[in-house]
Amino acid sequence: MPTFEYAPAPESSAIVDIQPSYGLFIDGEMVDPIDGSRFKTVNPATEEVLSEVAAAGPRDVDRAVTAARAAYQSTWSQLPGRERGKYLFRLARLVQERARELAVLESIDNGKPIRESRDVDLPLVAAHFFYYAGWADKLGYAGVGPDPRPLGVAAQVIPWNFPLLMLAWKIAPALAAGNTVVLKPAETTPLTALAFADICRQADLPPGVANILTGAGETGQALVEHPGVDKVAFTGSTEVGRAIARSVAGSRKKVTLELGGKAANVVFDDAPIDQAVEGIVNGIFFNQGHVCCAGSRLLVQESIADELLDRLKRRLATLRLGDPLDKNTDIGAINSSAQLDRIRELSHAGELEGAERWSPPCDLPDRGWWFPPTVFTGVTQAHRIAREEIFGPVLSVLTFRTPAEALEKANNTPYGLSAGVWTDKGSRILWMAQRLRAGVVWANTFNRFDPTSPFGGYKESGYGREGGRHGLEAYLDV
Ligand code: NDP
Repeated sequence: MPTFEYAPAPESSAIVDIQPSYGLFIDGEMVDPIDGSRFKTVNPATEEVLSEVAAAGPRDVDRAVTAARAAYQSTWSQLPGRERGKYLFRLARLVQERARELAVLESIDNGKPIRESRDVDLPLVAAHFFYYAGWADKLGYAGVGPDPRPLGVAAQVIPWNFPLLMLAWKIAPALAAGNTVVLKPAETTPLTALAFADICRQADLPPGVANILTGAGETGQALVEHPGVDKVAFTGSTEVGRAIARSVAGSRKKVTLELGGKAANVVFDDAPIDQAVEGIVNGIFFNQGHVCCAGSRLLVQESIADELLDRLKRRLATLRLGDPLDKNTDIGAINSSAQLDRIRELSHAGELEGAERWSPPCDLPDRGWWFPPTVFTGVTQAHRIAREEIFGPVLSVLTFRTPAEALEKANNTPYGLSAGVWTDKGSRILWMAQRLRAGVVWANTFNRFDPTSPFGGYKESGYGREGGRHGLEAYLDV
């Protein structure tokens, strides 16, 4: 097969203006942290320091929650829904207007390819604000009673894999429902949340309605444990999710947890193989595999396994890894050295346990944190790489013979966030979808998102739903 060389097509970073340091966004203003603590945020593709960001301490958390409470009582919960909707439409339009800048900033701070931040993350961020803007004056029709009331102040803690998109998933429904928010972005990806703080100012959002506190895990803990908080919304690891569930148990706080996953992507022998290969690639190599609903376990019917793996490997050899700002790049940088260590450790465990490891020839840049697309075959259900969330570009392949065996293997996981089914038969899709214990089941596609569609998990993948009108319920007193 001929291979084509691509000339580099770098997106310019001149459109972003990264300040040398940032404060906290509290009550509509950027303020310094009370104890003056700061930490660095780094470009994972180059290891360059991008900026110094404030680390919010308990007193800052208290200030932000107090500001959110005052804004809730004096303005936001008093505004008619159509007025709140206008602000949300304004935020949505400003996100669209500044989409290129936000996409570049996201790729610089997170390491994800510009193609993805530009074509997936940012359009979805705007779509979430537009979608929930439309609900703000129609809450009585959301199916949760004729006159649902907001909860109050929402504490929201988000991870680093989709920084701005997770912010949108959290802030848009909360504000549409009439709550005010205090949001903590992940320590390694604070910059787009700080750009969003600027967008709130541009939109003239009343002070205190949305507050952004940067910081590490302790800031998140102080925020979710603050007694002035009425609602906790968390996306991240199962371990931290459990700790949060324990810490708020017995309090009046309403909680939604969106945690990890180990999704099965099930390919039957009658599936369109080329489309399935694209779906497998999109399922696990999109966003370097830093995706909670990633199709990290490929279950392929034994009779087509060799052919499918052959085609998959040929396809993987065409993926381009490197500069996230290059528009040709398919696989960007791993977000942090800690995450890279975890991916390496689990991949090593896969080899030790006897699975066969394969990666296409792939030069890794000298600086930054990188991991090549990797496929493990000969994986059994007992292997750690079949059970634990790797959260990296690593696919574990298992085979099956019958639909019942596929189903049993797919459901043999402590998680239950998503799954994929590839087959020509509609009846088989329905049979599988009814029996798979997963919040989202994709049929002949994978990793498709839409603000109208609820998303969330079973078992250790958490509880509650985000997205759609179900996502509103989590922010309403019903
Ligand atoms: P965490 O769960 O630690 O981080 C998620 C968010 O919670 C971050 O903002 C984090 O802050 C914050 N946080 C950390 N500790 C606490 C606490 N005790 N109370 C409240 N908030 C807290 O995920 P990691 O970044 O450590 O990733 C570890 C693993 O988690 C990954 O390898 C992956 O398997 C999984 N993961 C799953 C995600 C998903 O979408 N389901 C997303 C991210 C990770 P800080 O960033 O400062 O640590």
